[in-house]
Amino acid sequence: MVETQPEQTNSQYKGTAQMFQNFPTATGSKPNDDDSKAPLPKGVVLDKDGKPCRTCTSVASWRALTKQADMKSSASTSTTTSTPALAAAATPSPSELPSDCPPDVEQLGRSTWTLLHSMAATYPEKASTEHQNNMQGFLKFFSKLYPCWVCADDFQTWMAHPSGRNQPKLGSRKEFGWWMCEAHNEVNRKLGKKEFDCRFWEERWRSGWKDGRCD
Ligand SMILES: Cc1cc2nc3c(=O)[nH]c(=O)nc-3n(C[C@H](O)[C@H](O)[C@H](O)COP(=O)(O)OP(=O)(O)OC[C@H]3O[C@@H](n4cnc5c(N)ncnc54)[C@H](O)[C@@H]3O)c2cc1C
Repeated sequence: MVETQPEQTNSQYKGTAQMFQNFPTATGSKPNDDDSKAPLPKGVVLDKDGKPCRTCTSVASWRALTKQADMKSSASTSTTTSTPALAAAATPSPSELPSDCPPDVEQLGRSTWTLLHSMAATYPEKASTEHQNNMQGFLKFFSKLYPCWVCADDFQTWMAHPSGRNQPKLGSRKEFGWWMCEAHNEVNRKLGKKEFDCRFWEERWRSGWKDGRCD
C-alpha cells in the first residue's frame, strides 16, 4: 500500500517505508528474531497487507512507531545509548503534523465528516428518486473505499444492521442530515467521544449558529 517514490525527499517517509520491512506482517513473515519480539506501539493499526496503515492510525501512535524504528536502527549501528534517536524518543511528539504531510486517521476523519455533512447540508429539501439513487450509490462505494479500512468495515456493518434501522434515509435534507448525524454519533460513541445533539446539525453544517458567529 505504501511505496516510496524515486523523487521523494522526505526522510521520515523514506525511513518509514524501510521500517515496514522490519515488522511482522499479517501473513506471519518475521524477518528476524529481534523484530518479532517487538510489539507495535499502542494504537498502530495494520493494513490488510500486514503493514502499518497510516490512515488508520493517529499521529501520536505513528510517531511512536517511527521512533521505535529509529531506535532499532540506531541500536544496531551503535554500542552507546545516547544516540540522537534515543534522545528523540524521550521527547514528547507534537500531536499535529505539518499541514503538508499525509493525513492520519483523525485528520482524514475530520475532512471526511466535513464533506459528508456538507453533502447533507446541500441535499435537496425533497430529493428526486434519481438523487436518492445517486446518494445511495455514493454511500455504498464510500463505505467500501474509505481509506481507513477498519473505519470502513465498521461503517458498513453499522449501515447493514439486520433490522434495517441504519439504512441511509434519503427522502429529504432533514432526514439525510439527521441520519448522517446519527452515523457520526455512532463513531463518536465507539471512540468514547461526546455525542453531538442532532437537533443542531443544520446550524453546525448549513446555516451557521444562531448567535451569528459564523456570519
Ligand atoms: C465514516 C467514518 C468512520 C470513522 N471510523 C473511525 C474509527 O473506526 N476509528 C477512528 O479512530 N476514527 C474513525 N473515524 C474518524 C473520527 O470519526 C474522527 O473524525 C477523528 O477522531 C477526529 O475527531 P474530532 O474529535 O476532531 O472530530 P470529528 O469527529 O471529526 O468531528 C468534526 C466536527 O464535526 C462536528 N460533529 C461531531 N459529531 C457530530 C455529529 N454526530 N453530527 C454532526 N456534526 C458532528 C463537531 O463540530 C466536530 O468538531 C471515522 C471517520 C469517518 C468519516
